[in-house]
Amino acid sequence: MRLGDAPDSDNFEDRTGHSGASLGGMGGGAMGLIFSLVASRFGIVGIIILALGYCALTSLGGGGGLLGGGSGPSSPSESRLTQEQKNLLVGVLESTDQVWGQIFAASGQRYAEPKLVAYTGGTQTSCGAGQAAMGPFYCPGDQSIYIDPDFFNELARRFGAPGDFAQGYVIAHEVGHHIQNLQGTLDRAQAAQARLGKAEGNQVQVGVELQADCYAGVWAAIAKSADGQPLLEPGDIEEGMRAAEAIGDDMLQKQSQGVVVPESFTHGSSAQRMEALRRGLQSGNPASCNYAR
Ligand SMILES: [Zn+2]
Repeated sequence: MRLGDAPDSDNFEDRTGHSGASLGGMGGGAMGLIFSLVASRFGIVGIIILALGYCALTSLGGGGGLLGGGSGPSSPSESRLTQEQKNLLVGVLESTDQVWGQIFAASGQRYAEPKLVAYTGGTQTSCGAGQAAMGPFYCPGDQSIYIDPDFFNELARRFGAPGDFAQGYVIAHEVGHHIQNLQGTLDRAQAAQARLGKAEGNQVQVGVELQADCYAGVWAAIAKSADGQPLLEPGDIEEGMRAAEAIGDDMLQKQSQGVVVPESFTHGSSAQRMEALRRGLQSGNPASCNYAR
């Protein structure tokens, strides 16, 4: 993946120096929804639009100290991000800003850029307390993507999907949820799920997730490096496909429970996720990503 120089972004916040997060702030019974990349590992396979009140109060792993506030930017000396990790996060974020900025401008709209927060272990979001075990996620309430960069190690080792474009796909998938938020798709999906039974609600969810995969492909098809070269290099598409395959619901269910239960899918099977990413890569057109309303 050819990104070129990644200048600093005002939309990027590094909270990785903190070892945990204050778990206050769930007051008022506010329910936040998050939209993530994989099903949460808290044994609620099947829920990916996750009501944070449900699981986020589980204790954070490790001896995470409680932080006052917990949301201020950490000083650079506290950061646990390597420069390489930071370049990738900021580089992909800015690249998606460019691509989606162009797409929105072409239809006379202004693109409101999302924020990207890197954190370690747990952090406060306006959807409640976010935890690394949820995997990367998007919180519509603060229009922010939350990623613990350790997820990328897990993607490479546990899920067998290494490579910079595998990581780019993950970030661009979350940006896809931001696009859906701006388009009203997330609100419509949530309203539909409130009306429908569990299995049908899950199908709505799968459509939302496949569309986010497809949007990631659209970004990669259009994106250019800083010096005007195509973003994608030989081997990148294979990396992305390997990642999409590895985080399919059937694959994850087989690993975690040995049985595959299609009615409980929330993100789509490996085959569906690969097809959705490929569709975006081949079309370069968000209109082709008609998996969700
Ligand atoms: Zn997602």
